[in-house]
Amino acid sequence: MDIRYFDHAATTKVKNEVLEEMLPYLKEKFGNASSMYTIGRESKKALEEARKRVAKLINCNASEIYFTGCGSESDNTAIKGIAYAHSNKGRHIITSKIEHPAILNTCKNLERQGFKVTYLNVDKQGIVNLDELKNSIRNDTILISIMFANNEIGTIQPIYEIAKIAKMYNIIFHTDAVQACGNVSIDVKKMGIDMLSLSGHKLYAPKGVGALYVKTGISFYKFIEGGHQEKNKRAGTENIPGIVGLGKACELAQNNLENNIKHLKEIRDYYISKVKENIPNVTLNGAIEPRLPGNANFSFENIDGEALLFNLDAKGICASSGSACSTGSPNPSHVLLAIGLNEKLANGALRTTFGEENTKEDIDYLVDNLENIVKKLRTTK
Ligand SMILES: *Cc1c(COP(=O)(O)O)cnc(C)c1O
Repeated sequence: MDIRYFDHAATTKVKNEVLEEMLPYLKEKFGNASSMYTIGRESKKALEEARKRVAKLINCNASEIYFTGCGSESDNTAIKGIAYAHSNKGRHIITSKIEHPAILNTCKNLERQGFKVTYLNVDKQGIVNLDELKNSIRNDTILISIMFANNEIGTIQPIYEIAKIAKMYNIIFHTDAVQACGNVSIDVKKMGIDMLSLSGHKLYAPKGVGALYVKTGISFYKFIEGGHQEKNKRAGTENIPGIVGLGKACELAQNNLENNIKHLKEIRDYYISKVKENIPNVTLNGAIEPRLPGNANFSFENIDGEALLFNLDAKGICASSGSACSTGSPNPSHVLLAIGLNEKLANGALRTTFGEENTKEDIDYLVDNLENIVKKLRTTK
């Protein structure tokens, strides 16, 4: 049976062009980027080339990009790195209730160390309120961290406006753009973003590589101690194959951005209208706009999301009940609760996230099966 993959927010497959660029650095060009001989210097050159490509995707300077081990590490570095470096100025952080666990759990950790954290609400559409943000700012606020786009419901936050408020009060603004990169046009300079996290495996590069953008002039605490790699900010021999892959993926994402957005929207809107037409008692979670072009998240009344996933899997269909990180835990998604769903509806949610290789024919297969499974599950209740 063919696998039909609709879980691109969980991870993506490495593109052939990305793999092709990586292979020499796993084989003959395996040198340590800190070594002086030819294959070492070649690795160093590849490292800096990749840095330029990543920087170009979000319009920052290459010197403002720090490679990390994953999106979670980028988020941890941003939050803890700023908290520890600026605690003499204050110990208050503002974030939202719908962040990824890499942000939420890091903030909770800081709270145990005496930092104060405000978790902003979101409305039914999944968007933070700018007045609530303004009212939450205190004299000792050192950081605002609000995600660019949500991984479960795909809603996009008013990043430009948030950055403007942060600047007005002279507060550093970080955004977790792991889901947005490659799916939304991002310009950190125009948008006024001070720090940004991204991750390779969400944009067709391999797992185990990420990046953090930090605007020149912002000091942050070093997260991993050791050697002098990454301008003495992130120790550890660089993952050159992974970084080369991330660089290539960013270049492809930039070149394909417009086409990709158009394609994803077409597929997603086709899916949304087919579901609404063919399956009764469903609601789309989160605002339809502004929303990631490839995200649809429906709640099915009187359906258990786990049972739905299990039955879809039997048909070769990969989707998600919420975020991949909360699968396996019995708790309903914190994001769906934050937009006002009750536990039952939150547990009846199905997230489908589409990718470049998905076709309309895939959607027909998905909706046909979904219709049958939902009917079956509702009648056997
Ligand atoms: C996947 C994801 C992360 C974590 O990235 P990893 O590379 O898997 O550690 C962080 N934030 C968001 C919004 C994500 O979707």
